[in-house]
Amino acid sequence: MSDAYLTVAQTEGGVSCLFVPRRRPDGSLNGIRINRLKDKLGNRANASSEIEYHDAHAILVGEEGKGVRTILSSAEYTRLDFAVGSAGLMRAALSQGLFYNDNRAAFGAPLSQLPIQAPVLADLALEWAGAAHLAFRVARAEDSRDDVSERLVSRLLTPVAKFWNCRRVSGVTEEVIQSIGGNAYIEEHPCPRYYREAPLNAIWEGTSNMMVLDVGRVLEREPKAIEPVLDEIRPVAAEYPLVAAALDEIEELVLSPGDTTRYLVTRLALAVQAALLVTHAPTVVAEAFVASRLGLGWGPGYGTLRGLDFEAIIDFARLG
Ligand SMILES: Cc1cc2nc3c(=O)[nH]c(=O)nc-3n(C[C@H](O)[C@H](O)[C@H](O)COP(=O)(O)OP(=O)(O)OC[C@H]3O[C@@H](n4cnc5c(N)ncnc54)[C@H](O)[C@@H]3O)c2cc1C
Repeated sequence: MSDAYLTVAQTEGGVSCLFVPRRRPDGSLNGIRINRLKDKLGNRANASSEIEYHDAHAILVGEEGKGVRTILSSAEYTRLDFAVGSAGLMRAALSQGLFYNDNRAAFGAPLSQLPIQAPVLADLALEWAGAAHLAFRVARAEDSRDDVSERLVSRLLTPVAKFWNCRRVSGVTEEVIQSIGGNAYIEEHPCPRYYREAPLNAIWEGTSNMMVLDVGRVLEREPKAIEPVLDEIRPVAAEYPLVAAALDEIEELVLSPGDTTRYLVTRLALAVQAALLVTHAPTVVAEAFVASRLGLGWGPGYGTLRGLDFEAIIDFARLG
């Protein structure tokens, strides 16, 4: 599908990064053989294949022997893509869910107002809001890399956002299908496609565990990177005891970066999302996020929110 492929291969100087164009300089097809296309769970519009190179023309990219470093230099951008893309997938699914639930009435009211359904939709709205704010915070940092502190934010929060948004998107697409019911299980509906696409984001450009390892690497090699991130959480922690408790725990955990775990990365993602929502979202949304994501009494599935203004939270997520 592409006009060229970046390939890491063994050369005389070690593992190197090569740019392999589809065509040779004389215009003839390059020596790229496609053995087979892969039959994937989803992501069908993007062809993935097993290939062989036979006397292929290739151009060295970066320094010979430094191929892994060269190819990974693009990973920060592509990982950001999947943090943003997962928030987008959540948004697309949520829009389907809200439209259906606002327009189908049962038991005398739109589904979105039913007492067991409203907390589900509100919970999904919170998940999307947190994911979008986290992804766009990283995008802002990426745009401001000339600033030392923003460069550090981008270095630390890119794997955090890739980890968390890509972990959460599968659950959101499944719960949206549930919230729509049988029609969302039919292939004419967009939801099956969202559902099949979602788990891929947590695999390609590095799995969840690889993101955790990367966070550990940052904390070990650039321990200062945590400071500008914690500085954004601190003013919010002063107002919200649950954020303060999460902050204390994170500060303790980062002192031993060798033990970086999914737990730490999850707490960090939630604390950053909470701080962003308190700063940028309506209070009702921010307070619900803090209470449900950092407090006790939040179930592992969606829809276990209690005692919150569900309609206000859902309304925040309605389009127009
Ligand atoms: C549709 C699709 C397109 C892709 N496109 C590309 C592409 O264009 N270019 C490319 O280079 N790659 C591509 N990939 C490959 C993708 O990046 C890898 O599949 C992914 O990084 C996981 O590696 P793996 O499959 O070898 O799994 P493994 O490395 O075998 O991992 C299996 C499991 O073990 C865990 N694990 C592995 N090592 C550790 C560790 N040290 N500590 C803890 N847990 C660990 C992983 O998290 C995972 O859960 C693509 C994959 C897919 C599905």
